[in-house]
Amino acid sequence: MIPYGKQSISDEDINAVVEVLRSDFLTQGPCVPEFERAVASYCGANYAVAVNSATSALHVACLALGVGAGDLVWTSPITFVASANCALYCGAEVDFVDIDPSTYNMCVSSLAEKLEHAQNNGRLPKVVIPVHLSGQSCEMAEIHALSVKYGFRTIEDASHAIGGSYQGAKIGSCRFSDITVFSFHPVKIITTGEGGMAVTNDPELVKRMARLRSHGITRYPSEMTRPPDGSWYYEQIELGFNYRMTDIQAALGLSQMQRLDQFVIQRKAIAQRYDELLRDTAIVRPFQYPNVYSALHLYIVRLPSGVLKTSHREVFERMRADGIGVNLHYIPVYRQPYYERMGFKPENFPQAERYYAEAITLPIYPGLTSEQQDLVVRRLLTPSGYQTIF
Ligand SMILES: *Cc1c(COP(=O)(O)O)cnc(C)c1O
Repeated sequence: MIPYGKQSISDEDINAVVEVLRSDFLTQGPCVPEFERAVASYCGANYAVAVNSATSALHVACLALGVGAGDLVWTSPITFVASANCALYCGAEVDFVDIDPSTYNMCVSSLAEKLEHAQNNGRLPKVVIPVHLSGQSCEMAEIHALSVKYGFRTIEDASHAIGGSYQGAKIGSCRFSDITVFSFHPVKIITTGEGGMAVTNDPELVKRMARLRSHGITRYPSEMTRPPDGSWYYEQIELGFNYRMTDIQAALGLSQMQRLDQFVIQRKAIAQRYDELLRDTAIVRPFQYPNVYSALHLYIVRLPSGVLKTSHREVFERMRADGIGVNLHYIPVYRQPYYERMGFKPENFPQAERYYAEAITLPIYPGLTSEQQDLVVRRLLTPSGYQTIF
């Protein structure tokens, strides 16, 4: 089976993890803050909080921005469910903004329209979570301008996007957002097994997220309600969680950071090769903004309906049967039964619906060989796979 995504683990990675296993600290040792500094400095952000998943990072990011009961959070429907679930964890409500038909990211003009409508109804979102699908940045300058106009805060879900850049600044610089979140799940750009990180330039937000990561406990006398009883003293001043990353994970992450740029270059080469191999076909290749350097977590193509002899579903199933781990990123979140029960209607998201009917993710990861890639394209195009009617 050729999977759609896969980690790349070197001997250096293994040695770094073994070293921690032989050390005094398995968790909350020196590696976590070192990993935080490495990611923050790579992105050009001031601060970082490492946690045990991007899901946790999204949760503490929402809480740090004050999301709670009665608030609204908006995100893209074409994302992993975690981008929406984080709002529900906080007791807030979720809504979705339809996608742009070329980038598949949250559509800025739909966002602007929805905001105007929401303002008239007095139902503006507290937080908007744009998702950089496949690693290509959303139009953050435009989203930022809207956040100023309408007074919402912004969390970038950059789970796909570490290593990329937008308008010359690294994803995670938070130039146009309050907080940016990364995932280190094994299929993502770099991995810690499970893991995530939130980066920000705001010292108050980082303090709050770090506290929520560990039970809402503070050891800073300045944050305490009364003078410490003694040097053992700490205070739980709000309700937090155990979302800590271990030193074992952070050591792996630190080691992976050394090859981050290389990983993205390898992904780029694979994507360019797909672009060429699919050039003279009716298959829609990924659109690429000239001012965005994508980390290329995913290579998503569309099989435009009406041009296919074989249905989207048949192509998908035949490729799977041939051992090619194609995937579909993502089932629109509002289609999940849990969300359906909240009353979302597919007809309100026509672009996401069309996308869902046509999209297929082809395998892309460092280590995918040209032979494997040729096989993927052959199976996609002929004879069992894709054929045009004409
Ligand atoms: C993977 C992913 C997440 C969740 O990441 P975890 O680290 O697995 O919690 C959230 N959002 C997006 C867009 C993702 O792809």
